[in-house]
Amino acid sequence: MGNKIRIAIDGPSGAGKSTIAKRVAKQLGIDYIDTGAMYRAVGYKIIKKQIDLNDTKSLTEMLAETEIDFVNGDIILDGEIINDKIRTNEISKMASDVSALQAVRDKLIDIQREMGQAKSVVMDGRDIGTNVLKEAEYKFFMTASVQERARRRWLELSEKGEKVDLAKVEADIIQRDHKDSTRKINPLKKAEDAIDLDTTGMSIDEVTNNILEVIKWQ
Ligand code: C5P
Repeated sequence: MGNKIRIAIDGPSGAGKSTIAKRVAKQLGIDYIDTGAMYRAVGYKIIKKQIDLNDTKSLTEMLAETEIDFVNGDIILDGEIINDKIRTNEISKMASDVSALQAVRDKLIDIQREMGQAKSVVMDGRDIGTNVLKEAEYKFFMTASVQERARRRWLELSEKGEKVDLAKVEADIIQRDHKDSTRKINPLKKAEDAIDLDTTGMSIDEVTNNILEVIKWQ
């Protein structure tokens, strides 16, 4: 283990996990692993290859031929940088659907554990503290009100030129929260030893500093 540190940040979509995790990683000079992007990458490939989610054979074959990695903050799927292609509403929904499949989770969790064993990381997702890195030195469970999360997601999509209705984004978030927290395998759940962080009304700097303070003092 040595002096490696693993920081797990879990929570529902739009809570600010990736923005904060990226900042914390930068401040500490360690790698940031966005596990949501990995589920999005699989969702993207499934749409591109037009694979039927019920077709276990095609799905298994596709997964066996799938390589996902992070290089300099970019997510690479089978050699292609896909950062900009996986942030659409369509991929968000598909990512949530594929994340409920055992074969997909097995594959991605293996990769995530390898990453967490090899180096110090900040890893964000839904099941990092409860499952992927149960032994993480630091665990946080980040939340925010549904309204604030919807507003943040809407802003993010609008900045990318996707025209969406705020009420629709809010409804999608509620539906995705429900799916993520009630699915049978590795549902979204706070680890017993995770620190609660409600980011409603907090700035990015405030949340980042909050986490860095905990790491400095614990
Ligand atoms: O965090 P993000 O919104 O990018 O995640 C996309 C989807 O991937 C989530 O809705 C969730 O269903 C799934 N996910 C997961 N486990 C993780 C990370 C993400 O099931 N560790």
